[in-house]
Amino acid sequence: MEMMKIADHKRFQTNGHDFVFVTQTGGIFEIDGETRAVLNLGLAGKSFTKQEFYAVLKGTRSNKDSLWKDLAGNRVLAAQKLSQGKPMLQKPEFPVKTLVLHVTESCNLMCHYCYHSPKELIKAPQLSMELTVAKKAVDFLFDQSGGLEEVVLVFFGGEPLLNLNLISKTITYANEKARKTGKTIDYAMTTNGTLLTDKAIGFLNENRIGTTVSLDGVEAVHDRFRRFPDGSPSYNVILPKLKKFLDKENPKPVVARVTLAKDSNNISKTLFHLLDLGFSEVGFAPVTTMDTDFKLDSHQMTALLDQFQDLSEIFIDLARKDEFLGFTNLVDLLVNLHEGDVKQYPCGAGIGMFSVDPKGGLFLCQRLTKDASANMGNIFDGLNREKLGQFRQNARLNKKSACKGCWAASICAGGCYHEAKIREGDLLLPNLHYCQWIKAWIETGLNVYGRLMNETPEFLDKLSMLRGHEPLFNQLV
Ligand code: SF4
Ligand code: SF4
Repeated sequence: MEMMKIADHKRFQTNGHDFVFVTQTGGIFEIDGETRAVLNLGLAGKSFTKQEFYAVLKGTRSNKDSLWKDLAGNRVLAAQKLSQGKPMLQKPEFPVKTLVLHVTESCNLMCHYCYHSPKELIKAPQLSMELTVAKKAVDFLFDQSGGLEEVVLVFFGGEPLLNLNLISKTITYANEKARKTGKTIDYAMTTNGTLLTDKAIGFLNENRIGTTVSLDGVEAVHDRFRRFPDGSPSYNVILPKLKKFLDKENPKPVVARVTLAKDSNNISKTLFHLLDLGFSEVGFAPVTTMDTDFKLDSHQMTALLDQFQDLSEIFIDLARKDEFLGFTNLVDLLVNLHEGDVKQYPCGAGIGMFSVDPKGGLFLCQRLTKDASANMGNIFDGLNREKLGQFRQNARLNKKSACKGCWAASICAGGCYHEAKIREGDLLLPNLHYCQWIKAWIETGLNVYGRLMNETPEFLDKLSMLRGHEPLFNQLV
């Protein structure tokens, strides 16, 4: 006889509606009185047969049958073996979809909080990628992309526009490779915006390069830390160039990335300032550092959450009018929830994504490019399959014992490896320092999700499509 149990879940309420988020499937359902009564029966953590379950229910046999069917269909009721987590695939193979090229280590800015510390930048020779390496990296991407029809090449640095010539030749080569293999290639770049000359702007648009510009907000905020090596501010160097770029028809969305450092306040002002400049979205990330000159302390992290929650309310108000607020952090979270993503890994690093340093070394991601423990081979000899296999085994959520039983695990999965390296000392450790924050933020996302689901469910589909995904609805009970 099959033993069942109530699946691990989190209940939440929005505007008087009761919802359940099933943690192992990522499903979100509005629940009715009957389901609520079942969840209140005190069966959590116990296993039971169908007969035992029926014995504690009230109502007719056909009511019980229909309730059983609904609960099982939504996986609120799960077979005991399912609740142990999905069985691990034997030697899972992951095609490479995204490759990040460090086209140069040089940067013309010297932002005070940069994760390559200014001291390091001064003493170490800054390498730039040669065309032979870039071409080999493109070959690697196509060779390792398996059956994928689309691949993505990202230009990163240092400041990538310092090596525009190489980028241009690499794109010519990659386009030809795409033509020969019948695949599609998309391009992206992260730039500090200081070198957005007319030539660079024309190039970015002609080649449909999705561009992220690192900008921290209004002049006074941006210029606190984002300065040239001689100490001069960068905002007014960037602004006229950026305006020219954003005034043009950009075939790909141009987004802003804001690094939040100590005493960052007025997130709304920053968001609306950047949207007013013409960015389609703005994403915020607290700086990853242990340096107390820059790190947000716990009060500032709480204030940040409050401001994210205020922005979420504005997001809902606009969504009701079918208008979009380009608040990337919330959009990404809602798309995750809508698509029922159940993460085994926190991100694509070392799964479908790698970064390449100027010499051709392969690393888990762009922020770990100088970390030997994140090196996974090189583009000439290929991936170090043994080391990568170990990483994939050890980075899986089920290896993070501290995350066991955490209701947010299917979304957080332990968090960023780079953050873990800096804050926890090892990239494989879960980011326990921010559990409380991330859970509160995910809870905010669930709340927004529930309200949108009731009031304007088609808006959630639109968000998925905005991210280039097929619409996928979580079903209402
Ligand atoms: S790091 Fe914290 S919030 Fe994230 S999955 Fe682990 S226990 Fe949960
Ligand atoms: S490890 Fe962190 S920085 Fe790197 S891709 Fe993952 S989330 Fe991003």
